[in-house]
Amino acid sequence: MSYRSIAIDGPSGAGKSTLAKRLAQELGFLYVDTGAIYRTVGLAARSRGADPDREAEVAAVLPQLAITMGYGEDGLQHMFLDGQDVTAAIRENEISAWASKVAALPAVREFLLEMQRRTAREHDVIMDGRDIGTVVLPQADVKIFLTAAPEARAQRRFRELLERGQQADFDQVLREVVERDRRDTQRETAPLRQAEDAVLAETTGLDLEESFRLLLGLIRDRLGVEEENT
Ligand code: C5P
Repeated sequence: MSYRSIAIDGPSGAGKSTLAKRLAQELGFLYVDTGAIYRTVGLAARSRGADPDREAEVAAVLPQLAITMGYGEDGLQHMFLDGQDVTAAIRENEISAWASKVAALPAVREFLLEMQRRTAREHDVIMDGRDIGTVVLPQADVKIFLTAAPEARAQRRFRELLERGQQADFDQVLREVVERDRRDTQRETAPLRQAEDAVLAETTGLDLEESFRLLLGLIRDRLGVEEENT
């Protein structure tokens, strides 16, 4: 049996994970957050004292890592590092920068590629990330490039941090968003870019519900799926 796949790529804070999670529920697909996998490697590099800017140091750590993904009764993706549930730990603000640094290393991308592809071979997936439509699943049935202005994305990230009870300063969050965009788009291996056959979804002026409706319509259209209720 062959499974269907939906790739959602875009910069940080565009709303990929929130929207993809809801879309997955609506469509009965498995939601795969690939950023969480890179975050787990970032966390591992930090806890083992590897310099994230030195590929050889991070590459030396990779074979020692047991990184697995699981789905709880809540249907949500949990990340495990050496048997420990690190789902909450990888969301710390500091880990974002570690993740984007290790994600620029070819050795790390190569190490995580098969894990992502295997998941798509075994399930109907909505996978979000930076290179899903271009590298991980170039044959995806639907490709969406989701973006919004940096200020709008920083505002969402800022609110998210406050809601989680973390300290945050808007200007700093904006600087971090811009810096992460720069690193993600300018790296040599699998940079963030819109696949040629991806649909561009710009959500700057849209709220979550409007963005959800936009993407759902687009996906149903591409998959040839009829609307069931609403
Ligand atoms: O999506 P999220 O912000 O959790 O991702 C953390 C970092 O992981 C991103 O800034 C990006 O550098 C990296 N990443 C990536 N490729 C993916 C997913 C995430 O390079 N497919």
